[in-house]
Amino acid sequence: MSRYDIEKFDPPPDPDLVCCICQCVLDKAVECPCRHVFCQICIERWLSNRHTCPTCRKRTRKTDLKPVLPLVQNMLNRLMMICDFRQNGCIDKVMLENFERHVKNCGYEMKTCRFSKCGQPILRMYIEKHENEDCPHREIICNGDCGLMIPLSEMSVHNCVSALKAHIEG
Ligand SMILES: [Zn+2]
Ligand SMILES: [Zn+2]
Ligand SMILES: [Zn+2]
Ligand SMILES: [Zn+2]
Ligand SMILES: [Zn+2]
Repeated sequence: MSRYDIEKFDPPPDPDLVCCICQCVLDKAVECPCRHVFCQICIERWLSNRHTCPTCRKRTRKTDLKPVLPLVQNMLNRLMMICDFRQNGCIDKVMLENFERHVKNCGYEMKTCRFSKCGQPILRMYIEKHENEDCPHREIICNGDCGLMIPLSEMSVHNCVSALKAHIEG
């Protein structure tokens, strides 16, 4: 699935905002002198071995390409997208211009507990609590003499001197 696959938009995008080369919503939209619009990467790839607009076949070169009008870019920016993590429970719809930021921070992304003995999949919104408070395999700083990070599960048999020795040797 490409970044701007039509399926990710709700409501479906206007056909004028869809690239006829990749069939996805325009990604970094540019226009040819004939005013036909394409994703920058799609049209540049097309023009590197042909010199015509894919829609109307007018003579076009890479150097003729221009960014689309701000009006078109604004229409693109405001398209509503479905979060990548909908199947995990995120019901947010996000404007295209905010989509990347949302997905990077979405609480419904599945993460993996950082403690290797655990490795449990946990939603981002719960992972901090899990790793700091709930994980049976989390490590805590020993408040005895060694001051090392010790797995909670080993704390009852932990010995500062032998742990320090193992730490220095290992
Ligand atoms: Zn394209
Ligand atoms: Zn054209
Ligand atoms: Zn989300
Ligand atoms: Zn865990
Ligand atoms: Zn200790």
